[in-house]
Order: sequence, then C-alpha cells, then structure tokens
Amino acid sequence: MTDIGNLARHSAREIAEKVRRRELSALEVARFFLERIQRLDPRVKAFLRVFPKEAEGAAKKIDEKVSRGEPVGRLAGVPVAIKDNILVEGTETTCASKILEGFVAPYDASVVQKLKQEDAILIGKTNLDEFAMGSSTENSAYFPTRNPWDLRRVPGGSSGGSAAAVACRMAPLALGSDTGGSIRQPAALCGVVGLKPTYGAVSRYGLIAFASSLDQIGPLANDVADLALLFRVIGGHDPKDSTSLAGAPADEELTRLKPQISGLRIGLPREYFTTDLDREVAQAVERAAKNMEKLGARLSQVSLPHTRYAVSTYYLIAPSEASANLARFDGIRYGPSLLKNGKDTASLSLETLYEENRGRGFGPEVKRRIMLGTYALSSGYYQAYYGQAQKARTLIRQDFEAVFQNVDLLLTPTAPTAAFLFGEKTSNPLQMYLSDALTIPANLAGLCGLSLPCGKTGAGAPIGLQLLGPPLQELRLLQAAFAYQESFSWEPCPLS
Ligand code: GLN
Repeated sequence: MTDIGNLARHSAREIAEKVRRRELSALEVARFFLERIQRLDPRVKAFLRVFPKEAEGAAKKIDEKVSRGEPVGRLAGVPVAIKDNILVEGTETTCASKILEGFVAPYDASVVQKLKQEDAILIGKTNLDEFAMGSSTENSAYFPTRNPWDLRRVPGGSSGGSAAAVACRMAPLALGSDTGGSIRQPAALCGVVGLKPTYGAVSRYGLIAFASSLDQIGPLANDVADLALLFRVIGGHDPKDSTSLAGAPADEELTRLKPQISGLRIGLPREYFTTDLDREVAQAVERAAKNMEKLGARLSQVSLPHTRYAVSTYYLIAPSEASANLARFDGIRYGPSLLKNGKDTASLSLETLYEENRGRGFGPEVKRRIMLGTYALSSGYYQAYYGQAQKARTLIRQDFEAVFQNVDLLLTPTAPTAAFLFGEKTSNPLQMYLSDALTIPANLAGLCGLSLPCGKTGAGAPIGLQLLGPPLQELRLLQAAFAYQESFSWEPCPLS
C-alpha cells in the first residue's frame, strides 16, 4: 500500500498510475493536497481561491469510474493549480485585479476543458501580478505570494502563485501564462520546471488577454517528465483560437518522455552571458553547460546581435496590446463600480463614470502600461514607437532563425539573479523589467523555452537555466532537459 504521508514526493505520473490501479483513491489524494494547502498556504499565500468541495466531488467521480472498471484519463486524480487569468466555469476569475472582482467565468478555458477530460482535479486558482504584469507577484491587488524556499523573498512572477504552489507541493502540477517570461522566471526562482510553449501550440481560448501576440499558457511541474505530460494534455490545435497552430504537438512520446541529449548541438549566446549577470548564476549555468557536454551535447558560442533591443521592444509592444485588450474593462458589471455602490451616478457623464471605475479598479503597474501603450499607439507617435518596435521584433526573430541553422537548442540563464527580497525592485520599474531580459526574446520570436533548476546560491536560493528551441521543437527541448535533470541531484524545497 502507498504511504499517504509520502504523496508530496510522488510525481503526477505516479499519482495517476496508482489511482488507475486502485492503489490510491483520488479522494485520498485530493484530501492530502487540500490539507497541505491549509497548512502551508497561510505562510506562502500562493492561492487566491481553493476549491475543496469541487475537488472532493470530482475525485469521488473518478474513484467511481475506476471501481466500475471504466478507463480514466492521463491525469486521473492529479490535482492541478490554475493561474487566475485562466477561466474555470462557475468560479471567480480576477487576474488578481480589483476590476474583475466578482466576475464568474461563464465557460471553461480550452486548457481547463482538456484537464477535465483527462480526469485532473482542479484544486484552486493561484495568485499573479495583476493582469500578469510583473516579475515578483508583488503587483497582485490582493497580497504578495512568498517564495517557499525563503519567505522573505519573492517567488518571481507573474505566475508566482503557480510556481510557489508546485515548489512546496501544494499541487503536483500547475498552469501559468508566459508573455515575457512569466512561467520560466518564477519557475527558476522557485526551483521548479516551467515550459513556455511555441506561440500557438496551446490554445489561448479562455485566457484573459494581456498581450495577444506574446501570451502563451504553459505547464509548471517538479520534474521534466511531468512537465511533458501536462504539455501533452493541454497542447494541440483548437478551432476556438484562430492563432492556434494546426500542426501543434499531440505526440505520444511526450507522455512517456525519454532522456535524449547526445549529439545535440547546443549554442551559448554571448549576449546572454554579460556582466549584468549575478556571479553565482553565471557559474551555475556554466557548470550545467559542461555537464551537458559530458552527456554528449556539442556546445558552441553563438551570437544574437539584436538581443539588446529586446526589453525596449517588448515594453512598447506588450503595453500597446495591453492598452487595447484592457479597454473592455469599464467597471460597470464587475469590480469596484460606482453604480454597484449605490452612489448617485445620474449626474455623472459616461466618461467620468469610466474614469472613476477604472481609476479605482486598476493598480499602478497596469495604469502605467495602459498609459505607455496608449501613447505608443497614438497617431503622431505610432510609427516612431510601435512601428519601430515591430521592425526590431523582426530583427530579433531573424537572429534566432539564423542561429537555429547551426544549433538545435540554446542554453542561457533564465533570470539574471536568483529570488530577490520583497520591495527590492518595486520602487524602480525599470529594474523590475530587466528581470525578464533573458526570457523576453523567446516571446518576441514565438519560440519554445523552458526553465529548470541547475543549482543554488550560497544563501540557498534556486538558480534556473533556460533552454530555447525553434518553434514546435518542444519534444527535443524536453528530452534534453530530462537528460540533464537525470544527471543532476536536486533536493526539493524543504518547506513542509
Ligand atoms: N514580467 C514581464 C512583464 O511584466 C512578463 C510578464 C509575463 O510574462 N506575463 O510584462
């Protein structure tokens, strides 16, 4: 029999297998993780909402299916935490913003539907930087999430709640979204693995949009094989998302991932190993590169000359798209609406009403982005800013196309530093923006990329390495990451 106390160390694959074989009941699994959330989350604060009743109800249904001898899905009984910008029917979805307070999702995001089809258990909604804008989860309108490795430090962002929940095993798996690094950077800072799929490989239907040409939903997990499994479940073409790719992976090899790195050509882009990099981070990533060489990878130096334009390009394109996407939130039906508060609004013009509602509903970072984006798109400046940024975006993409003629994957640090202290970067937005300097280019170019642990700082904070691949090369990326992971011993987060 399975020692239930040990469940936190089980992979998602093991849990599903044991539920299928009736060595564990889905209900025991759900209760175990719900209890863990109850015990640990008051310290970590990864969840905005937890679904104990719904989770137990879904678990019971899976156990009934198993006992009737019916087939169950790939994620049978596996709890999954969902970032709160992804819709789950009948539950509140706020994007950690006051403006969406009280908004109950009328339908499931396509990824959520797929999780349900595979018998996963939706355990709760996780915290994020408001509308996924940020790198530390300090921009949540509700509360910051703490890094489970060191509660004085940030978990990264914007998917900080998802990364923290997976790191201290309040859920074996989670979904995040990555517009400029929001899966990979918190994965690095929390010592877990996170994948940003190729643009279009996972449906965005039911993801509340931040910057539509960059946003991508993706998985977070504690090991690479679990990451591949969750990607397999959520990936694939979706007719409800017009940007979803027809040839997106439905590869069964993802569900039984094999390590494979020997003979792979891995490039180290010079521009990602600059003096801005924390010394301990640089050393850990260089050590990891040597390990991969020992495993049979062929390393070479490469150059992506337009890298230095990536952050400024992103901070024109992402806010421009955000200013358009967020124009729909008027505070009339949800949020801190003046109408709702029973105030006498008859004397207000419609414009004043919107201004009041949006003024109250959005936090400072979101307002900053809306203003930046509106300015960049305004008629006199459109060519000078937005037009120019689009040209730079093309150059960045072409850099990658050129290097991928000669190498299979790229290896870089995920973030320039390990987890920083609360408040360390909040007074200087530019400093915060630079935490994503190494992840942003992949979004601008539509590539796939992942982050996985490769060491710790002297102070015990996890360090992540990033692997990038050409569009739709997730399988190769995951196989290489798996091979590296197997060669490297990683002590999981001690919080329990
Ligand atoms: N930190 C970046 C930003 O603030 C990226 C966010 C994201 O990927 N959602 O925009």
